Amino acid sequence: MYSQFISFLFIIFIVLIRKTNSLGTHVVLNDGNKMPTIAIGTGGTGLTSRSMVEMIKNAVNSGYRHIDTAFIYNNEYEIGIALSELIDKKTINREDIFITTKIWNTYHSYNRVREAVSESLTNLNVDYLDLVLINWPMGYKEGIDTEPLDQSGYVIPSSYDYLETWGTLEQLVSEGKIKSIGVSNFNSEQLSRLLESAQIKPVVNQIESHPHLVQDKLIDFCHKSNIHATAYSPLGGGRLLYQTPELTKIANKYKKSVAQIMIKFQIERGLSVVPKSVVPQHIKENINVFDFTLSAEDIKQIKNLNHNIRYTIEEKAKNHIYYPFHNDY
Ligand code: NAP
Repeated sequence: MYSQFISFLFIIFIVLIRKTNSLGTHVVLNDGNKMPTIAIGTGGTGLTSRSMVEMIKNAVNSGYRHIDTAFIYNNEYEIGIALSELIDKKTINREDIFITTKIWNTYHSYNRVREAVSESLTNLNVDYLDLVLINWPMGYKEGIDTEPLDQSGYVIPSSYDYLETWGTLEQLVSEGKIKSIGVSNFNSEQLSRLLESAQIKPVVNQIESHPHLVQDKLIDFCHKSNIHATAYSPLGGGRLLYQTPELTKIANKYKKSVAQIMIKFQIERGLSVVPKSVVPQHIKENINVFDFTLSAEDIKQIKNLNHNIRYTIEEKAKNHIYYPFHNDY
């Protein structure tokens, strides 16, 4: 009788796990690690230190289990405080939270990558990072200045190639400091070059994508290479998209908000997403997207809004040999 009861519980457990996965709340990366599909974006919030701590706690209390940060956002310390408070109160365990951070462009050399990862670990107050991305394929002159410019106002490059940066990240994985490694803002050519020499394949390419920048070609390339694609600025950075009549019509049909439609659009294309909000109601809304499915026709209509408009262009680096956006995809 007891063993039958245990078997029953086991079956319920498996069914629940399957259901959770089929809802798309997690993706399995090419190294086998599981990543929550929706991350709270933390870049460009304009928040004070204390408000950032509160925002992270609010996001975790609303159900987020993935936090997207970066060295350049200058908020890892506040995220660390929020997580420590939540862990101390036993709201979460460290293993429940997936932390993505990114190596900045002035940290591409061997010593600087190690320094950046060590600083992120200290600031976030953790002993491992779930995912570290190379923020951009472009290395900038290393030093205190995060955007070193020449007299014409263009970025001064460094001589460090992203392949070297990658090699150091691979070492840090073998040392147990990082679980998974990936890239951000890489074009298909740069990904191919990295794939040729990498010992560890990048698990993710985090790229800008929203209805004005659909990025079908690059996403297809990523998927064919078994690299997961993550959409940053999935709401178009809060620009005109909210007023788009086509999106409003679709939102009304599903009784959802335009933001929820834009987030689900990416998830149904197989992407994970990094929406950012500082408004508690929006934070809750943006994760509440697993109870409806967009039709193929609606996805097609959203794709028709594509104008190849990029909002993050890193203009001052356009002369860099590894500037990613001169390529078609
Ligand atoms: P986003 O998430 O596309 O849009 C954020 C804007 O949408 C904010 O103005 C926000 O305002 C508004 N918003 C959010 N939810 C809303 C809702 N439910 N209803 C109405 N408005 C809503 O743009 P993003 O900040 O550019 O990108 C998000 C994250 O992506 C960043 O925080 C960062 O983590 C990541 N990112 C990565 C890179 C990279 O190079 N890898 C580059 C850029 C961004 P409220 O705060 O008022 O809600």
